[in-house]
Amino acid sequence: MTAGFQVVDWRGDSAQGQIDPMYLARTNDGRRIPATRDESGHCPCCNEELAAKLGDIYEWHWSHKPGQACSYRKTSTFWQYSWIRHYHASGEWDVETHVDGVDFDGVHSQKRLALMLAHKVDLIALKSFVEASLQRGLRPMVIFQAKAFERFQFEDYRLKHPRRSDNSWIFFFSHAFRGHSRTASLWVDIEQDKHPHFGLKSGAYNLTYSAECHGAITVHPIPRLKSVFCADRSSTDDFEL
Ligand SMILES: [Zn+2]
Repeated sequence: MTAGFQVVDWRGDSAQGQIDPMYLARTNDGRRIPATRDESGHCPCCNEELAAKLGDIYEWHWSHKPGQACSYRKTSTFWQYSWIRHYHASGEWDVETHVDGVDFDGVHSQKRLALMLAHKVDLIALKSFVEASLQRGLRPMVIFQAKAFERFQFEDYRLKHPRRSDNSWIFFFSHAFRGHSRTASLWVDIEQDKHPHFGLKSGAYNLTYSAECHGAITVHPIPRLKSVFCADRSSTDDFEL
């Protein structure tokens, strides 16, 4: 019997809205640390002491205590958490960080990249991320969870929303038009054992817009594997894929 436990697949969204996992807390002397029993951690935004969640069911993480009103990382999910942990482990990225007053999921200062981990195609949030990145001299990179496209039809490596009034494609048209200078590097993270996977293998697939197919998003047929996705020294070339 597992009564009393909520079994959560940490890569999924069954926990969305109930838990807001934070990867890095701040220590009293200003360091950023993953969840631990050995030190207390504070929220980098409201500075309240956080609860370290160190169970067997969840990935270890920090979380606000009940009643704390802070909204920092409030909408984060375990899918985002897994990428943040991945980039943190690379040693090259600052994760859950901020630049000139704006929060970013990740920043690669050497390569001047800013990261957004998006679980939906929210045009307003995407636009403000792209603008905030460019204003700070950072090139925006968005990794979408496959779920963001669950209502889309997938055919011939193109994602198309069945509703003609859906205008998600405009973001791809504006920032990742093939043959034009691209202002954002856009990806979809496919997990082949999860819905929706569109019949694709696990990996990160580059997303662009192509003049040949109006109103659709073009999916690059060859994925990058997550394990080498950011370790690859040529990852800035992804901009030109
Ligand atoms: Zn807080």
